[in-house]
Amino acid sequence: MRIWLLFSSCGLLVATTRTSNVPATSLCEAWKGSDPANVSVPNEEEYEILKNSNWSPVARRQPACIIRVQNTETLKELLPQLVEAQVQFAIRSGGHMVVPEASNINDGVLIDLSRVDAIKYSPRDQTVLVGSGARWKHLYEVLEMYNRTAVGGRMADIGIGGLLLGGGLSWLSNKYGLACDNVVNYEVILANGTIINANASSSSDLFRALKGGGNNFGIVLHFTLRTYPLQRVWGGTKFYAHEQFPALVAALARYQAAPIQDPDANVMIQGPITNSSYGIILTLVYSQPIENPPAFSAFEGIPVLLDNTAIRTYADLIASANESDISQLLKWDFRTATFALNATLYNELLHITTDSPEVATISKLNSGTFVFNLQPISTGVVKEGKLRGGNSLGLSEEPQVWVEYLTAWSDVKADDLAYSSARSILNRVEQVAHRSGNYHQYKFMNDASWDQDVIGHYGDNNVAFLKSVQVKYDPGRTFQSLVRGGFKIPT
Ligand SMILES: Cc1cc2nc3c(=O)[nH]c(=O)nc-3n(C[C@H](O)[C@H](O)[C@H](O)COP(=O)(O)OP(=O)(O)OC[C@H]3O[C@@H](n4cnc5c(N)ncnc54)[C@H](O)[C@@H]3O)c2cc1C
Repeated sequence: MRIWLLFSSCGLLVATTRTSNVPATSLCEAWKGSDPANVSVPNEEEYEILKNSNWSPVARRQPACIIRVQNTETLKELLPQLVEAQVQFAIRSGGHMVVPEASNINDGVLIDLSRVDAIKYSPRDQTVLVGSGARWKHLYEVLEMYNRTAVGGRMADIGIGGLLLGGGLSWLSNKYGLACDNVVNYEVILANGTIINANASSSSDLFRALKGGGNNFGIVLHFTLRTYPLQRVWGGTKFYAHEQFPALVAALARYQAAPIQDPDANVMIQGPITNSSYGIILTLVYSQPIENPPAFSAFEGIPVLLDNTAIRTYADLIASANESDISQLLKWDFRTATFALNATLYNELLHITTDSPEVATISKLNSGTFVFNLQPISTGVVKEGKLRGGNSLGLSEEPQVWVEYLTAWSDVKADDLAYSSARSILNRVEQVAHRSGNYHQYKFMNDASWDQDVIGHYGDNNVAFLKSVQVKYDPGRTFQSLVRGGFKIPT
């Protein structure tokens, strides 16, 4: 008997037992025999590369085999077999989620979608069909040939699938809503092998559920997305001395409080707390080729150390946010909270975060890093989502900030300490926000940690809706029980 750690419905780790992984091994052997080019097993070179291709080491595992799916036919055959043999499996597109086991698995089958990467633009209806395993940079490059773009990742290499199923925050969200709001069709394979096209007029319940519902209903092979005209944009990063952090946070509140919100303007502040010599990074993106537009006037007058903003193509802008800056050798935890716009609260959040004793604990870890990010969300983001049919996220239609704490470390045995330190800091700021009436329950899946109950915070109505969709499309609860990783619908 082996003790296994599984994710419970609320995302917490719970101990459970399993007798053996024999079904996974025999299923893998059978698939290896019939499709050797697309199945990797331990001790093969390709297996070693693929098992480690999750973005952060915290998410890498040792599956019994990795099956590289290329088309619906493979999944139609594979999924019923996994169900029949009760084999645990994980689904991976771009592998960027830093949640352990979200998109990799020990001993079970890893379904790797990286070869499902077709990108086909349709000039007739101005939509693009994209495979779940494609990367945002490739999609932007293809669409740029048509002077168009899609609402998606702010970094080049993120996978299409995970970002869209978790909501998806884009530099274009103030204008067009979240990335998920711009999906017009999901091609989904259900646990019984049925292929469904979920859209506004067919399987519309599944269509809405997938807009934030993660991996709880089926495997999405292809997404069809709206596209928008876009040529050159203005934007990039500005670097400030660390002591300007309070001024930048105050400016952010003023920027968000402006009576007229410019939908072309988008902002993010990233502040390393542990490594203060790095300074503070302000990213400004304006989706028109206009330098220093008035929308960003709140940030004027704060002394800048380095300014990389320029007019450029959108694909160039995305490529300039180099992921290699964020070392993929480190273990990462992302952790999220949502608060109402409030200048006093923002200032308090900054001070509580900076002064938390746990920051020193994280600093002492090897490569210990703690970063405080503020992502302003305008009412436009929520309104545009509703105009496009709505999602399952339960967002309030008011200005808010999605806070993200990033913790990194490299010690083999410091995981518990790193997670608990970050958790304590977030608990502290959430208590303060609660007391001042500025707490929002929403938790952004794409920035969430493994122990955060993301879907449970979408609101009672949304949770009830998601459960009803699950009963209808996955009555055997395969994606709840056999896909143990990722954020689950609370039971
Ligand atoms: C450097 C970096 C930058 C980021 N920037 C942004 C950003 O700008 N905006 C934003 O919104 N998020 C951002 N994120 C978060 C990112 O969007 C999420 O981690 C997202 O899950 C990544 O998608 P993926 O396909 O790479 O993930 P994966 O790790 O492959 O998958 C994530 C989850 O989705 C499930 N899943 C994936 N594909 C499918 C599918 N086809 N069918 C069913 N389930 C599936 C997996 O099982 C897993 O639970 C960033 C993350 C990193 C590391």
